[in-house]
Amino acid sequence: MNDKAIRTRFAPSPTGYMHIGNLRTALYCYLFAKHCNGKFILRIEDTDQKRYVEGATDVIYSTLKKSKLFHDEGPDIGGNYGPYVQTERMEIYKKYALELVEKGFAYYCFCDKSSHEEKEGEASIGYDRHCRNLSAEEIENNLKLNKPYVIRQKVPLDGTTSFYDEVYGEITVENSTLDDQVLLKSDGLPTYNFANVIDDHLMNITHILRGKEYISSTPKYQLLYNAFGWEPPKTAHLSTIMGKNADGSVSKLSKRHGSVSFEQLIKDGYLVEAVINYITLLGWSPRQEREIFSLEELIEIFDLEGLVKTNAIFSYEKLAWMNGEYIKKLAPSEFEKISYDYATNLPSFIKDKWTYVAKLLQNRINVFTEVEDKLKFLYNYGEFDLELLINKKNKTTIESSIQVLKDSIDYLGSINDWTDSNINEAITQYSNQLNLKLGFVMWPLRIAVTGEVVTPGGCGEMMYILGKEETLSRLQQTLNRIENK
Ligand code: GLU
Repeated sequence: MNDKAIRTRFAPSPTGYMHIGNLRTALYCYLFAKHCNGKFILRIEDTDQKRYVEGATDVIYSTLKKSKLFHDEGPDIGGNYGPYVQTERMEIYKKYALELVEKGFAYYCFCDKSSHEEKEGEASIGYDRHCRNLSAEEIENNLKLNKPYVIRQKVPLDGTTSFYDEVYGEITVENSTLDDQVLLKSDGLPTYNFANVIDDHLMNITHILRGKEYISSTPKYQLLYNAFGWEPPKTAHLSTIMGKNADGSVSKLSKRHGSVSFEQLIKDGYLVEAVINYITLLGWSPRQEREIFSLEELIEIFDLEGLVKTNAIFSYEKLAWMNGEYIKKLAPSEFEKISYDYATNLPSFIKDKWTYVAKLLQNRINVFTEVEDKLKFLYNYGEFDLELLINKKNKTTIESSIQVLKDSIDYLGSINDWTDSNINEAITQYSNQLNLKLGFVMWPLRIAVTGEVVTPGGCGEMMYILGKEETLSRLQQTLNRIENK
């Protein structure tokens, strides 16, 4: 590589929320910079006032912070290349736009918006270049009359422009296919297409990593760098993240596929680390079998060679699996804390036993929103199907269950200290005394108190969670239901 210190930038527009695709761009910029001992810069691209959403910058800050993608320079922390907010750089853009006009690489355009766009039947794209050859006099007159104007790039009419992309390789386009794009709008604000070039140069950015939708505009940026006599940064365009549609086809990941913002995924019960790990692999390959990597490990191994050209498909199932792996690795106290926040609709008695409950859940959920579902026997106990008491493997029948339930009400009722081990011991003792297989006894008991075949723990654990009174009541309720059938 070159001897210049590596500098990457994340340049989001404050449009409301952090799309997973944007976060992935930030992540790659961060990983690459850190891998190279370089700097990761945050720049806020807020020149498109129509898309501006109040408070959106805070979402950007908080997402980067929660994801631990700490920037080295940015609006909130400063740096030597500020300001880092585009609307605070208006004078700079103006100065450079005028410089281009001066040098003959840009021109004033006084056309009103719609009248000169894409005339039918003409091969030209976009603006019809009406003002490209105005005389100095005409321009001066118009300026004197205070006619609103934009400044447009004067793209060469023939020849080709090429650039080398680190992912997609050499790209060459005919200049005749490029439009004379607007650089400076009539309100004095720059377009993204202009501002990104000025900023990336002035901020000494060495590598631009961004979505591949910008490939088609990159030749125009190259022409701007050439016009200024600046060396363009290297580019690496990133493949698009796709979502699977109901009919099996794929399209760009959007809300109709599920949650697409970082905040929503966290609300949905995913861990930041898992989201980060997962999205790293959507567009970059570690070229090894392993899939679970910490941020530190990713910094260690991340490189541009691993960026892939093909679009990745976002899989919520895969993310859930990965999240489950991260959940298993959490310290029990941490799992307890996080899972508690997802237990808002559970009866309050369960919250006093949360340390105990959390231990049972940690290896049994992939996503935190499953917490309530796994415990639905607590609040959703009703007329379960009595046939569930019948189990081939344990040789239980409705009839065999009647006796087991009746007896259990007696011996469980005499337990003073209601702990899972005392409960299990009492059940074991009973089974041994009557020479019954443990499963034969436990199956109907667990079904009777939970109404479910799959529970987040065994018989004693479920009974302990429910408490003595509720357990005995449910055993009796089940007996009554059998008898009243
Ligand atoms: N502001 C642009 C966006 O949010 C940034 C594109 C770039 O990284 O250059 O899409």
